[in-house]
Amino acid sequence: MTTTATINLTDRAFLLAAVRAQDPTLNQTLRQAARARCDEIFGREVYLRGLIEFSNICRRNCAYCGLYTGNSNIERYRMTPEAIVERAGVVRDLGFATVVLQSGEDPWFTLPILCDIVRRIKAETGLVVTLSIGEMPFGDYKALREAGADRYLLRHETSNPELYAKLHPGHTLATRLDCLKSIRDCGYELGTGFMVGLPGQTDEDLLADLDLLVKLQADMVGIGPFIANPDTPLAGSADGNIEVVLNLVALIRLLLPGANIPATTALDSLRSDGRELGLNAGANVVMPIMTPPDVKTQYRLYPNKRCLDHDPTVCSGCTRRRLEAGGYTHSFNPGWSKQRQMP
Ligand code: SAH
Repeated sequence: MTTTATINLTDRAFLLAAVRAQDPTLNQTLRQAARARCDEIFGREVYLRGLIEFSNICRRNCAYCGLYTGNSNIERYRMTPEAIVERAGVVRDLGFATVVLQSGEDPWFTLPILCDIVRRIKAETGLVVTLSIGEMPFGDYKALREAGADRYLLRHETSNPELYAKLHPGHTLATRLDCLKSIRDCGYELGTGFMVGLPGQTDEDLLADLDLLVKLQADMVGIGPFIANPDTPLAGSADGNIEVVLNLVALIRLLLPGANIPATTALDSLRSDGRELGLNAGANVVMPIMTPPDVKTQYRLYPNKRCLDHDPTVCSGCTRRRLEAGGYTHSFNPGWSKQRQMP
């Protein structure tokens, strides 16, 4: 263990030590530096985004995810377009400026239906709309952008092509990366990210994940620990390590200073103060779950998701209290990415 730590983002040995997270001095120095950088750019304001998980039906078979096609232990639901638009109104009425619409890859939501939902939300609420609904052809991303969607989140999940193929049978990293390129080319703010601690993932893989984020110049980066879901083929695997996740959050803040980085639900699920730790390591966004209470419990990507028994509108107040206790203020600013303004 060292007593001082020097941060050098171009030194591979430093980066490897950072992703191993075994030196408490290094961990602390890194996270404090990242928080200081975040303070310079975003202050103590934390941008809030309302998350609506509108369908847990999915045609994909991602080995880690509780929504994967083969899981018969969850009750499937699909909100109607009317209910989604109405819920976006609730999110707006609570003060949010941004709504994130997330779902499994549910074929019922055809392009015209999705475009109609986006158009109606834009017209009726004026919210900034972020989509997180998976892979589609270029033309679909383009049509949704033209319908008014502003941002798109699609994690690359892991930058190791072999590991990617193993976790997503029949799918490739190359297709995922093509989608990310399409999203960028359509003019969305681009969000991506990865899971930390996937079975078979190495420290080198994590460094490659960082390289990819920098190459993509992501506007938003969501990362979180892999959490083993007992209803999936990865049942019984070890969960990701929170110290590693926190060091990666800090590295991402230093590498992409103007990016929006959420303290993710997965981080908060692994530890009750996970959100605060994420913010203290350089995150600047929180996404309270605004999915209606009757279906919220069924959007089970991984176990121990927090606050599932609460009415989402209550979570919004709870979120603000937690932020204040941690020395932050909540912000309903639309919170556009500052990454592209970085020198
Ligand atoms: N269908 C959309 C949304 C996927 S769910 C899409 O493809 O983008 C959102 C994210 O949850 C995923 O991108 C994945 O990184 C994360 N996730 C899923 N299962 C998980 C698990 N067991 N542990 C941690 N994160 C998980």
